[in-house]
Amino acid sequence: MSAKLLDGKSLAAQIKEKLKREVDQLRASTGQVPRLVNIMLGNDHGSCAYANSQKRVAEQIGIQYELVTLPHNISQQDLIDHIKRFNRDEHIHGIMIHKPVPTHIQYRVVANYVDITKDLEGINVANIGKLIVQETKLIPCTPAAVMEHLHSTRVPLRGKEVVIVGHSEIVGKPLNLLLLEEYATVTVCHIATSEAGKLMEHVRRADVLVVAVGKPALIKGEWIKQGAIVIDVGINQVGDKIVGDVEFEVAQKKASYITPVPGGVGPVTVVMLMRNGIEAFKLQTKSKVKV
Ligand code: NAD
Repeated sequence: MSAKLLDGKSLAAQIKEKLKREVDQLRASTGQVPRLVNIMLGNDHGSCAYANSQKRVAEQIGIQYELVTLPHNISQQDLIDHIKRFNRDEHIHGIMIHKPVPTHIQYRVVANYVDITKDLEGINVANIGKLIVQETKLIPCTPAAVMEHLHSTRVPLRGKEVVIVGHSEIVGKPLNLLLLEEYATVTVCHIATSEAGKLMEHVRRADVLVVAVGKPALIKGEWIKQGAIVIDVGINQVGDKIVGDVEFEVAQKKASYITPVPGGVGPVTVVMLMRNGIEAFKLQTKSKVKV
């Protein structure tokens, strides 16, 4: 058996079409479209390339996207002042802070200054808290992309054994909450699971496996349960190739569905950022628009 490939580019294209129609409707009813800003500190080549790809996707959907580049050595207070200015600007509907930030900036501190209705990445602690009680639509983008891939298989998650490897604030932890909302039985593994020598035993029993670690071939293909759904979030540069965290060649022989790397979770994540931009716009124009 060979797994069906969960093609992120085609899933992203379908969602983009839906979002474009929604932006067209918003334009017709309000005379405006969402306008998003990405605050970047310094202009590292890789970060600029990623921002350019976000801009391209925004333009395809009809969203305005502006890259604001501030000096790499900006003080934390000056950065917070910029964020506060964008919070007050009613022509700006969404704000994100491009990562990584320089070491003198405490990301967690500045992230909490982003207005909760403009929080494009769902990283303000208030939005993270709201996720627990399902009161926010501004969901962190990568977990949202994983959920889109899982829904695209149409396999019900209720009662399934889901194993997440990686417990970061931006992927594993919020994804755990989203999966619990669908009544999956979720196990979250991390570095200490490996240290205890228990990673393989958890992975082996996963009906659905999501891996977000950043270590190539951490998950051996032979560990995958027959018929499992495998979502590989990891991005690793190995020589001149980009690979995920799962041994793809072997894993695809056992899985029922599997995401490729690149071209799996990544393209959908960018589109989720745009979906949040539209949700943020709707939150701010609620009184003027029927949503
Ligand atoms: P992180 O460094 O914040 O967290 C890594 C997690 O992996 C931690 O929970 C850690 O405990 C766990 N871990 C480390 N070594 C382990 C081991 N040997 N066994 C089990 N668990 C181990 O990483 P992150 O920011 O969540 O990113 C993870 C990966 O996902 C990276 O490769 C990153 O590039 C990628 N990523 C991809 C997207 C996308 O859109 N495709 C988005 C975000 C992150």
